Amino acid sequence: MRILLVEDDPDLAEAVTRRLRRQGHAVDWQSDGRAAFEVLGYEPFDLLLLDIGLPGMDGLTLLTQLRRQGNKTPVLMLTARADIEDRVNALDVGADDYLDKPFDFRELDARCRALLRRPQGQASGVWEVGGLRIDSAARKVSWQGDDLDLPNREFSLLEVLVGRMGRVVSKEDIASRLFNFDEDVGLNAIEVYVGRLRKKLAMSQLRITTVRSVGYRADVQADVPAQEGAAVPPAQA
Ligand code: CA
Repeated sequence: MRILLVEDDPDLAEAVTRRLRRQGHAVDWQSDGRAAFEVLGYEPFDLLLLDIGLPGMDGLTLLTQLRRQGNKTPVLMLTARADIEDRVNALDVGADDYLDKPFDFRELDARCRALLRRPQGQASGVWEVGGLRIDSAARKVSWQGDDLDLPNREFSLLEVLVGRMGRVVSKEDIASRLFNFDEDVGLNAIEVYVGRLRKKLAMSQLRITTVRSVGYRADVQADVPAQEGAAVPPAQA
């Protein structure tokens, strides 16, 4: 998923960015509130992690303006533990949740997961589709009880497609959710990832259809023969 972190403490920002990237998210970092607000004007994100005290524009003002523009990106506000007013203000201006600093990274993970599944109408974080069990907390996919070997990027791709089941997702949209600004990735890299994912899921009823010159669509199809190049689960590491 695509995450924007707006935080002016470089050590904290680096630690959060590293952790979220390791989980397969495409993370961009901005330290200035005004610069972040501009980026949010033209780039879609699945989640915004927003500090309050920021140079350029403070987090509460940023969020107020963002919501006024109709931007509904889920926002996790990073607040100061001692300051109850910050928390109340954050929720009042449209934050979806807050996390007190200093925080435990496991709590950050859990709150991020909860907010990332919200727009997809997911209550539990586990999908059962086409015979597959997709657990977004554990970042694991299994088929008939066997774990499949999906690297982070392929797992994220699966989440993006299954999160918008039955709808076409453009290659540009997929790229923006799998890669951050610094990763210069051509759209044919997306084709490669889709190709690998298709092979690994070929024994399931989940089908990833190419919609020519637009993108891809995931559907569950019963009674279709296995796709060419079907892998025999469990996939070897
Ligand atoms: Ca700060």
